[in-house]
Amino acid sequence: MAETPVIDQAALSTVQSWVRAAGAIVVLTGAGISTDSGIPDFRGPNGVWTKNPKAERTSHIDHYVSDPEVRRLSWQQRLHHPAWEAEPNAGHQAIVELERQGKLLAVLTQNIDGLHEAAGTSPELLVELHGTMRDVVCMDCGERAPMQRALDRVRAGEEDPPCRTCGGMLKSATVSFGQSLDVDDLERADCAARAADLLVAVGTTLTVYPVADLPRIAQAAGARLVIVNGEPTAYDSRADAVLRGPICDILPALVDAS
Ligand code: ZN
Repeated sequence: MAETPVIDQAALSTVQSWVRAAGAIVVLTGAGISTDSGIPDFRGPNGVWTKNPKAERTSHIDHYVSDPEVRRLSWQQRLHHPAWEAEPNAGHQAIVELERQGKLLAVLTQNIDGLHEAAGTSPELLVELHGTMRDVVCMDCGERAPMQRALDRVRAGEEDPPCRTCGGMLKSATVSFGQSLDVDDLERADCAARAADLLVAVGTTLTVYPVADLPRIAQAAGARLVIVNGEPTAYDSRADAVLRGPICDILPALVDAS
């Protein structure tokens, strides 16, 4: 386990004053905000891909489409995913509090676990850039359906349940490597970044497009950039403030003071 860094109190109180003064906050979240809910991240010290680099390669869409074994394995992973048991944590709830205070412009998330909405973030403020694991989508006819209905079929013995409408291949409504992001979602994220007066990047290493671009877009449009993360990120040197430490402690501290 990495040592827990001591939160820089001077930086914390500076950012508290920025949050108090802000009127249009955009929060950008990655896997780090959900680790306290029991969902492992990808690239952190205990990350899924840090421990098993092969898992990153097999999450490419080409493997999913061409290899029935990858699909069978994927259904089993969905069935046993920790997200089904997970509850939103104090970090997710702090973002809901920002919305109650009327300061929240948007939550842009890389997470597919649905915990922002479960915490109470309004769907119209939420952009799930990598999709959601709570739905399935047919790769042939495009029909969407609740994931739990498909998982019921897996539990009943179907190893790779096909679309009930057209017989096509089903996949979680998430963006895999090799798949394009939703154009409308990208547009909403871009607009939010341009309109923000404060962008807070939480629990993301800011290495994956398009999230890696959004802090630059926001700063170019005049926003302050604050990074909240357990580990260094690609943007630390360009951020207006970096708060290193447990997200579950830092986010509530930022919000309660405003
Ligand atoms: Zn279909």
